[in-house]
Amino acid sequence: MTYDIEKIRGQFPILQREINGKSLVYFDNAATTQKPLSVIERVSAYYRNENCNIHRGVHFLSQEATQEFEDAREKVRGFINAGRKEEIIFTKGTTEAINLVAYSFGRNILGQGDEVLITALEHHSNLVPWQVLCREKNAFLRVVPINNKGEVVQEAYKKMLGPRTKMVAIGHISNALGTINPVREMIAAAHEKNIPVLVDGAQAASHIKIDVQELDCDFYCFSGHKAYGPMGSGVLFGKTRLLESMDPYQCGGEMVDRVTFEKTTYNELPFKFEAGTPNVESILGLKTALDFMDSLGMDSIGSHEKALLEYGTEQLARDPDITIYGTADRKTSIISFLFKNIHPYDAGIIFDKTGIALRTGNHCAQPVMDRLGISGTIRVSFGAYNTIQEIDRLVESIGMVKKMLG
Ligand code: PLP
Repeated sequence: MTYDIEKIRGQFPILQREINGKSLVYFDNAATTQKPLSVIERVSAYYRNENCNIHRGVHFLSQEATQEFEDAREKVRGFINAGRKEEIIFTKGTTEAINLVAYSFGRNILGQGDEVLITALEHHSNLVPWQVLCREKNAFLRVVPINNKGEVVQEAYKKMLGPRTKMVAIGHISNALGTINPVREMIAAAHEKNIPVLVDGAQAASHIKIDVQELDCDFYCFSGHKAYGPMGSGVLFGKTRLLESMDPYQCGGEMVDRVTFEKTTYNELPFKFEAGTPNVESILGLKTALDFMDSLGMDSIGSHEKALLEYGTEQLARDPDITIYGTADRKTSIISFLFKNIHPYDAGIIFDKTGIALRTGNHCAQPVMDRLGISGTIRVSFGAYNTIQEIDRLVESIGMVKKMLG
């Protein structure tokens, strides 16, 4: 199957927009991807024809919506190759999924003096929940260092897996630098010492094939909105044995079995972790988004984005006024860079004037910036619909930034 980029772009209405009189170049995919028409229409169709609360009614609409919602769960299961549908918990995003695990799992296993191990590459979402938990438990947050290329130092990681390590939480792909961590090997090393591992896959789900059984991770999470799906949709995968051992994260309707004033028993998996009315329309839209990615093929998306990354890196690397941050051997489609003498925020304003949407700042990864000795970067992040011509537009705009501000 050929990768028909024009046909793919044609599915994204927003790409037709002009910003400041220029056709939009959307290079902020790591923050959120745009949505194909199929996803937009799925959400709209739900409200036009199907809107109803799920899991509660005997009437037709409720049963239909419940069926669609549970079909979406099955779709997610297949997409990440989980063994059982009950291992898929819907959340509103990665942040909520990590907080759930820190609260319901981390809290049970962590004692005074114990350790949680993260890496120096983490997004704040995979750092702060663990930091707060460690503070509460008088435990220690240990951080595996990165090298100058933005790779996690594997020898240090292995050494830091100690007798007090009770949990490892690692990003699959860095949102700040694009580094792909060797998570399979890292999980295996932790498991040798019986340490459970959570993988933050927020940046992975739209770029690489995920197989939670092959990875053998204990928890895996991602956000639908970063994978062509709606905002407010997210996924937590957890191994059944662990999910069953955990208390609920939030309490209320749906997560209960029997309620009296004296006592409450909890619903079975996955409902035990889905208190209250979920974002039904977003979850249905997420299913359509996964269908969209499947229709292109994760391998094809990966090859297309690899070509963009290589071309973009080549173009930027040859500019003596630019420094690229994050040069890991295994990277996905993110280029973080700085001009030698121009503040990223000022540059961002000029890029915006030329119709290019990119991100400047610390990318919710302040410790990564501290490690690199900078306050932030300019980040371009590619998606399935970006093109080489758009990278040429970026290069043109770089020329303009230098002329105006250099
Ligand atoms: N983890 C990583 C690596 C991310 O890039 C992000 C968002 O940028 C998150 C977690 C948080 O995702 P969300 O805001 O969708 O919960």
